[in-house]
Amino acid sequence: MKVTSADIVISAVKPAQYPDVNLPEFALAGRSNVGKSSFINKMINRKNLARKSSKPGKTQTLNFYIINDMFHFVDVPGYGYAKVSKSEREAWGRMIETYFTSREQLTAALLIVDLRHPPSNDDVLMYEFLNHHNLPVIVIATKADKIPKGKWQKHMKVIRETLDMEKNHELILFSGETGQGKDEAWSALKRHMHE
Ligand code: GDP
Repeated sequence: MKVTSADIVISAVKPAQYPDVNLPEFALAGRSNVGKSSFINKMINRKNLARKSSKPGKTQTLNFYIINDMFHFVDVPGYGYAKVSKSEREAWGRMIETYFTSREQLTAALLIVDLRHPPSNDDVLMYEFLNHHNLPVIVIATKADKIPKGKWQKHMKVIRETLDMEKNHELILFSGETGQGKDEAWSALKRHMHE
């Protein structure tokens, strides 16, 4: 897809702030630092539209980006920071749960995992949560550039097995550095937009 426009719409903390338009929406979930913002930036050919690496302590917001006036990407705050307090983690949980269970525009979730490592327990829980709510999930295994090509398939297999993915669920190898997997990711998004 040729991206001709991409802008941040809002950093939202509550449903009243979610954009009130009926466009397809793709939410990015994953561990902090896994490469969610880099995924968005690579897909839309921008270096820095999506802010990189939200550090703990920063306000946790759902960042809505509008692409080609056609659909939204939603950058969801990451999980897995050991230093986050219990109350912050609970607030995060409530925000995520509200968003994923009530947002009608949500077309699919993109679960971003690191190709180098087996998915974490949190990744498994997030995948199960999304499936439990019958949300379409596309798993993106990113940072492929950090692994030799000869090992890609072996790592993909570990990801499928650890997440206990169903055969027909999509798993796409990606790199926010090289753009590997970008065409495949666009095809998946388009397919979901037209379903
Ligand atoms: P987020 O917290 O999930 O949004 O993660 P970011 O997109 O901010 O990425 C975290 C760090 O990983 C940054 O230093 C990125 O440059 C780096 N990174 C993200 N994706 C890739 C990738 O595909 N390959 C490599 N080599 N580094 C990446």
